[in-house]
Amino acid sequence: MDTKAYIEDVYGQICRRSAGEGEFHQAVDEVLRSLEPVLERHPEYVDAGIVERMSEPERQVMFRVPWVDDQGVVRVNRGFRVEFNSALGPYKGGLRFHPSVNLGIVKFLGFEQIFKNALTGMAIGGGKGGADFDPKGRSDGEVMRFCQAFMTELYRHLGEHTDVPAGDIGVGAREIGYLFGQYKRITNRYESGVLTGKPVAWGGSHARTEATGYGTVYFAQEMLATRGQSFEGRRVVVSGSGNVAVYAIEKVHALGGRVIACSDSSGYLVDEEGIDLDLLKDIKEVRRERISAYADAKPTARFSARGTVYDVPCDLALPCATQNELRRDDAAALVKNGVIAVAEGANMPCTPEAVEVFREGGVLFGPGKAANAGGVATSALEMQQNAARDTWSFQQTESRLAAIMRDVHAQCRETAETYGANADDYVLGANITGFLRVADAMTAQGVV
Ligand code: GLU
Repeated sequence: MDTKAYIEDVYGQICRRSAGEGEFHQAVDEVLRSLEPVLERHPEYVDAGIVERMSEPERQVMFRVPWVDDQGVVRVNRGFRVEFNSALGPYKGGLRFHPSVNLGIVKFLGFEQIFKNALTGMAIGGGKGGADFDPKGRSDGEVMRFCQAFMTELYRHLGEHTDVPAGDIGVGAREIGYLFGQYKRITNRYESGVLTGKPVAWGGSHARTEATGYGTVYFAQEMLATRGQSFEGRRVVVSGSGNVAVYAIEKVHALGGRVIACSDSSGYLVDEEGIDLDLLKDIKEVRRERISAYADAKPTARFSARGTVYDVPCDLALPCATQNELRRDDAAALVKNGVIAVAEGANMPCTPEAVEVFREGGVLFGPGKAANAGGVATSALEMQQNAARDTWSFQQTESRLAAIMRDVHAQCRETAETYGANADDYVLGANITGFLRVADAMTAQGVV
């Protein structure tokens, strides 16, 4: 069978045995498309069934999460942990609490995580988890009881050498605190390295909170530099207004760019003066309100519940909200308005059709596996500090993050060229670099 037919055959099998998991199929399809030149050159990966093994999780856990709300009503959610691949290290990846979470979503995220984590060059495998719990509008007490119920099942699958979760959408420092407390209570162990994204005061790493957003901007900065350009004086649009978006905005401003728009699920906000980060943080992180509150507080800003943030003309776009948020029409609008570069702060925010529009338009495109790898890379730095019972300074940690992002960027370009593509093909470069690291480790470890 020729390589193309082999890939199609494997893809067909994966889709059949994971019916209805659309996002997972999409993530697999994107990686498999990149692998043709690799499998042509290395038939030994085909013989060893590497692609089939890599696309089947090593273990998947689904469990009931019963808890009692403030009114005394019993609630039931579904919890997940997909332990996808441990060839390079313990399973590593965040937990997402959002009503849209289902097995297909967790599998797509876990699959992406394998390649992203490998790309960082650190000793971390890939996994992901979460629950269809919606923390929005829930009291601290309800969130705590939910986290405790969730960890009461999950703890048996975790360990600093086994599986190390962190945050994702809906899981931040507050949730990590409650989860850690329950893990400690059940196991009677102060095992700092079992979760990352902890507050700095008790085992967290400096710069972890900022890392995903900062890293995305560093990646975009590297892409711009290949064309002799920078963020200086650039108009930037960021989607989302969560942890990734906030720190992407902060870093763009530090590099002399101006973020003029951001969004949440209710709509988007334009402030031609540049987003006031203190105000945004206060609304989203302290008051936990909708983004329209920003426009109420600042006369230069306008909120829109219609259209998308990508209608706002800009030089750079950083999608930092969620999967498949940037579609073909959004990409076309960005290209029409002269966008130079797009870097994904979220996981798979651009649809395949949108990525194709960027490719045709000659837009620099940094896929999430590479562009948002700074978050998990800094989690690995947190694990290093925990293992050594050490705390590094903010500056030391941030300079490690910056070096990792430069390296990820350079690796993507080098691999793309090695496999016969243009160095600007970051999708191919990221997928192949990650694949090779995991495939070589799997080959060495035998059929397990
Ligand atoms: N959820 C983040 C990601 O998508 C971070 C994972 C981690 O730090 O383990 O990469």
